[in-house]
Parts: sequence; structure tokens; C-alpha cells
Amino acid sequence: MNNSTSYPHLFAPLKIGNVEIANRIVMGSMHTGLEARRKNADKLAEFYATRARGGVGLIVTGGIAPSRTGLLAPFDAKMTNFLDVSHHKPITQAVHKANGKIILQLLHAGRYGMTPFKVGAGSEKSPIHPFKHIKASDGMVKHLIRSFGKAAKLAQEAGYDGVEIMGGEGYLINQFLCSRTNDRTDQWGGSTENRQRFLVEVIKNIRSQVSSDFMVTLRQSIADLVGGGQTWDEIISMAKKAEDLGVNAINTDIGWHESRVPTIVTSVPRAAFVHFTEGLRDEVSIPLIASNRINTPDVAEEILARGLVDAVSMARPLLADPELPNKAKTGRADEINTCIACNQACLDHIFVGKKVSCLLNPRAGRETTLILTPSTKPKKVAVIGAGPAGLASAIAVAEKKHQVEIFEANATIGGQFSIAANIPGKEEFKESLRYFQRQLEVNDIKVHLNTQVSAQEIKSQGFDAVIVATGVRPRIPNIEGIDHPMVMTYADAVLGKRKVGKRVAIIGAGGIGFDVAEFLTTDESPTLNLEEWEKEWGVARDLSIPGFVTKPEVEPSSREVYLLQRKEGSQGKTLGKTTGWVHKASIKKKKVQQISGAQYDKIDDAGLHISFVDETKAPQILPVDNVVLCAGQISVNELVEPLKASGIEVYVVGGADFAGELDAKRAIKQGTEAAAMIE
Ligand code: NAP
Ligand code: SF4
Repeated sequence: MNNSTSYPHLFAPLKIGNVEIANRIVMGSMHTGLEARRKNADKLAEFYATRARGGVGLIVTGGIAPSRTGLLAPFDAKMTNFLDVSHHKPITQAVHKANGKIILQLLHAGRYGMTPFKVGAGSEKSPIHPFKHIKASDGMVKHLIRSFGKAAKLAQEAGYDGVEIMGGEGYLINQFLCSRTNDRTDQWGGSTENRQRFLVEVIKNIRSQVSSDFMVTLRQSIADLVGGGQTWDEIISMAKKAEDLGVNAINTDIGWHESRVPTIVTSVPRAAFVHFTEGLRDEVSIPLIASNRINTPDVAEEILARGLVDAVSMARPLLADPELPNKAKTGRADEINTCIACNQACLDHIFVGKKVSCLLNPRAGRETTLILTPSTKPKKVAVIGAGPAGLASAIAVAEKKHQVEIFEANATIGGQFSIAANIPGKEEFKESLRYFQRQLEVNDIKVHLNTQVSAQEIKSQGFDAVIVATGVRPRIPNIEGIDHPMVMTYADAVLGKRKVGKRVAIIGAGGIGFDVAEFLTTDESPTLNLEEWEKEWGVARDLSIPGFVTKPEVEPSSREVYLLQRKEGSQGKTLGKTTGWVHKASIKKKKVQQISGAQYDKIDDAGLHISFVDETKAPQILPVDNVVLCAGQISVNELVEPLKASGIEVYVVGGADFAGELDAKRAIKQGTEAAAMIE
């Protein structure tokens, strides 16, 4: 697809302060869940070293607290004493050994902490946390400033190439900067100058504690996306002060955790916020780093070629594929496993205290435990099914140097991913299909499409091992009239195999029910039109509005859609922690009628007849043209027992193993683990 000359801007070196980094790719800060415990230091070191070997220019660590009052959670990672220094040394050593550069992010959580002793700038409690913080006294503020300086000094002792000051996302520094969270009347609140004073003093203190060749970067919030956020004039004045005080680069940051504008999920258009970063170009001369939804080298190159920003931040894309820079540089961009911004194994894990990995790359965060060592006695391995589980396992089996063939009953590869790629805002799934297809070619994996294989055929063709990844089929609920012509499966609706009318009832409000509701109420995918997307989520282009948020304007749907479940209570409880609220808000805006506690009595020409678990509610007939079934899945696993009986080594993965809570994260992880087990 591309050769190295395709990305001349991306692979030009960049000077940050006195330090030269090899290219313009910065691995943005992201927690891994490995930071806090000393016993995980080697795992974290290997995680970062893998990315350094993959060619990234600069790595920024996950946020580390400069004081106990700034911890994100109890016993979380901090940099406050010599013990912390020794904890971090294996990390910096491993990255430097891999010829990489790494800086430590200093993050004080402020009112976003989950500890009882958290300290914040103002009086208001965080709307997204259960308990209140302590408002910092003048003495505490001065102590906090000194702790940032001390932490930076310790970071230098630990071998880091610099520090990044986390000044965005609604954490402590951002809380001081904005009137939304800073209601102080002393020298740290009130006027713009007073609200900026805390960050100014933090920068001064850090600079006084470290050498001049030690990089200091600022993660500056340049679009708070909350009411009471900063104005553009305030952002410019802060950026200029930062430059004057010795900050070497500004890594721009978008949105607070409490913002109601999505900033990183897959339905956010690629590079949606880069214009904010570009707006700073004429104001400062230090390097500017753009971030958010920059997930391919092509998008990055296009941004850099415009000449207004100097580097791009990619965090999740390097979880999905640590080799992204090397592949892009050596003309193998089409082999990149592109992050689809699903958050399922990264951010969703962080918010429930689990270790971070990647849905597409289960080896992320498990570099020292999930290893695909090439076999010394190559076997002949069959994979049945070319959905995500089958494809991932076949590629991993090939990496182990076994000989592998795939048998797929359908005419195309992709399984559930091919369906998901049609959902508005989920276009990124097409990148995964491209990745899988290319890996099949690169690894010379034979794929038998339109082939319904039997256990006998597998046995007779001399396979030593078989991975059964036959997936799922939709559950057809037992409802009177389920054979009525108005009823269809979600796959038929989404793949356009059946025409869907103007009034539709969706049975089942799980992940797929929500997707189908969005599909049926959206004429044009918002991901593909930035202006429409900004209108829908209320992102203001008028930069005099503090926080740049305005009233959302939504195109009404031309369909009337009902989304039903049998359970009582609110819908969407099983959706992802960091993405569920976006799906819920989207269908609400489209006026999808959500009905819980429903009993499906029958389907006939009049529509869907329902009554309620709560008998005080009157039965209804929903006068719909179509009923779309999203009632979960059942495993397709008929081959498992005959294969086992034939004496072949059998592994069952993905939906074929367990259809409940079917998800691609488990499917791909199981597929990769099965491959790792084949000796
Ligand atoms: P799900 O999240 O388990 O939801 C199934 C829905 O069907 C529930 O609302 C359930 O609610 C209902 N249901 C179950 N049995 C039923 C029956 N016998 N009769 C009527 N309704 C029944 O399953 P899903 O929506 O199939 O999604 C599964 C997983 O796939 C998600 O967790 C997500 O990770 C992943 N996902 C995949 C895609 C994709 O395109 N492939 C898209 C989104 C999500 P009641 O029991 O209350 O009625
Ligand atoms: Fe990207 Fe999803 Fe992987 Fe996270 S889990 S890195 S969002 S593909």
C-alpha cells in the first residue's frame, strides 16, 4: 500500500527542548494497571520496551501522582521518594536499551481521585464521583506546587528523559484553570491570572528542580468541552506563559471526564479536534502535539503535512499494534492492526480496576506471559470459522510456524465484524477486516470459503489440531407469529438483505439492539461528517464561548423505532463503561422509544402485541412494519464432540465456546491463547 516515502513528515526527527526524538509519533499517556505494584515493574518495562522497539519516537507514561493527595485510587502509583525511584528504574532502563525515549506524566487527580484524602481546587464535588474532596488551603496549594517539583527531580533520578505536566481532562491543574471548578477568592482563584497561577508556579518549581536538558512538556487542555471551561484567549495566554517559563512542548488535550461530548470513542470522526491544536500555531513556537482519534499513519501524515502541528499523540493505536511506526516506515502500513477506538479492553478495564490490554491485540500488557514462541515441531492445524476468533487464532498459529488452513462456511471472512462495520460510527471495523485479510496473505494462510467442513473431512486431511471458531447464530425467541414475514434477524437488517419499514420494533436491548437502533435512526453516518457530528454533540466553533459547548442539534430520524427488553429497569446496563453513555445518549436524541419489562405476546399483521411484567400497565399493540430480532445468540458448536471423538487435539474459542455476553474481546483472546497452547 504505502512505502516509507509516503510518510516524510511523520518520520522527520523532532527536537523537544535539547532532545531529538526520532520521529513525530508520541505514545500518549495511558494507564495500564501495571503502574502501582512493584512486582509488575518488569511487565511494565517490557510493555514500554516493546513499543520502543516498534519505533515510537517518544513514550509518555501513565499519569503518576506527585503526592498522596493526588492519587487516582488508593495505593495507586506515585513519585514521592527514593523507593518510587527504584521502582521506575527498570522501566527507563528497558526503554533506553531499546533506543527509546520516555517521559513521566505527573498527574494530580484533584477532585477526580477515588481516595478519601483527595484534595481539589474549589468547593464543588465532582459530578461523576461518589464523594467529596478537601478544598486545598493556601498552605496546601504551596505544598502541592513543591511536590510537583520534587516529583520531577525524582523522575530525573529514575532515568526519565523528561516529565509531562498533566494540565487537562478535568484533573487538579485544570480544576484551578476553570471557573467551573475554581470558586476561590484568594490568589489562586477569581481572575484568569489568579486561576493560572497554580500551573505557572508548578512549571517554575519543576524547572528549578531539573536540568535544562530535561524535557518538560505540558498536557494542556485546549478545549474543556464543559460549561465554565476556559475561553480561547485564556488558553492562548496560558500556552504563552508556559513557553516563557521553559515548557518544551505542548501536548494538547481535549475534554474533561465529565464532559458530555464524546472525545475518543469510535463514533468520533478521526482527527476531530486537530483544528484546536492548529489554532495555537501562531501563538507559540514550541512543538505542538495533536491528539484524539489519530489512529493511522495516513491521518497523522495528513495533519503533519499541513505544517501547523509538530507531532501526533497515539496511545491506543500503539496498544493495538506496537509495530505501527516500523510498519509505516517500511512500507507495510497495510499490515497495521488499527485501533478501532472501542475502549473495550483498555479504558473500560481501567475504570473497573482491571489491567489494560487490547481487544484486537490480547498480548498488549501481557508481553511477558502470552508469548507465541515458534514451534520446533510444526503441526498441521485447521481453524474452522473465519470470524474474529478464528482469524486471530489462525494468524497466531501461523506466527508459531505451524501450517494452518481456515474453513469458512460463508463467502467472506469477518463474521460478526462484517456486520458491525455497517453500523453508523463503527466504520473502523473495516480496518480490522483489512488487517485480517492482509495477515492471511502475509502468512500464506490457505482460506477455504463457502466450505462447510465435517469432522470426518478434518480427520481425513491429516490435521493434528483443530480450533473450532464456528461462532454463533441469532437466538430466535419463542413468540407466537415469529414466522411472520415482518420479522427479520439483525444481520438481515444491517447487511441490507431485507428492506426495513418506517416503523420498527427491536426485540432485545443488548449491545446489538442498541447498534441496530442507531443504524435504523441514522441516515448518514455522523463519523463521516465532522460538521454534522459537532452539531449533534454541541461542539461550538465560536471560541468566545467558555468550554466551547453549545446546545446540540439533532437531525430527527425518519423512522419510528421501539427498543424492547423483558427485564424491568433502564436499558443498556451491559454496555461498555466509557462508551455506553454515548450509545444511550445517541438513541435518546433520535427519540427511540425504550420499553422495559415487556412480554412478547404475538406478532401479526397489526404489529407486535406486548403486555407487561407490571400488570398495572395496559397491554399494547405496537403498529410496526417490521420486528428485528436482537435477542442474543446461541453457540454453533455441532462439530466439537465429533472432532473430540476423532482423537484430534481440539480447542473451542469465541461464540462457539460460549455465546452469552459474546464479545470480540474474549473471542480474540481465546483464539490467541489456543494458538499459544499448540506446541
Ligand atoms: P446481549 O447484550 O446479551 O443482549 C441480548 C438481548 O436479548 C437482551 O436485551 C435480552 O434482554 C434479550 N433476550 C435474551 N433472550 C431473549 C429471549 N429468549 N427472548 C427475547 N429477548 C431475549 O446480546 P447481544 O445484543 O447479542 O450482544 C452481545 C455482545 O455482543 C455484547 O455484549 C457486545 O459485547 C457485543 N456486540 C456485538 C456487536 C456486533 O455487531 N457483533 C455489536 C454490539 C455489541 P431480556 O432478557 O431482558 O429481554
Ligand atoms: Fe483500541 Fe479497542 Fe484496542 Fe483499546 S481495546 S486499544 S480502543 S482497539
